[in-house]
Amino acid sequence: MGIEAKLPSGLGIWVTKLANWGRQGAVYPLTAGLACCAIEMMSMSMGRYDISRFGMEAFRATPRQADLLIVSGRVSKKMAPVLKRLYDQMPEPKWVIAMGDCASCGGVFNNYAILQGVDKILPVDFFVPGCPPRPEALLDAIVKLRQKIRDEGDINGRI
Ligand code: SF4
Repeated sequence: MGIEAKLPSGLGIWVTKLANWGRQGAVYPLTAGLACCAIEMMSMSMGRYDISRFGMEAFRATPRQADLLIVSGRVSKKMAPVLKRLYDQMPEPKWVIAMGDCASCGGVFNNYAILQGVDKILPVDFFVPGCPPRPEALLDAIVKLRQKIRDEGDINGRI
């Protein structure tokens, strides 16, 4: 949150609402696919499912231009610090979707090499169950994320 925090409270709230409305219509996901779930994530960005209707088709190649991290697949313990670093490099405000069973809880990989849920290292906004989830399930999480962004308050929690 930026300039809206410096405005008188009534005006600041309306600026926040306007900014949130703009944000929910231009969420840029980071180009980051980890495993098989990434195939479904990619198909979501194509014509059949068409996330460009939400202003989201431009997957960004750098974390500095992205505000959504879709963790699409299992997170190995070697990959975890890399993912955390990418997340830390994304500017605020930013959001995370854990896509699939592996990203949400380790899935079928209950072993020493796989993180048992990406929420152990990142704050997750939405979990999408499935192995892999269908693109419709990811779209459902995105629709809910857009609602969440619209409802977010300013830095003082006012809405
Ligand atoms: S949830 Fe299933 S499809 Fe997704 S990364 Fe794990 S094994 Fe692959």
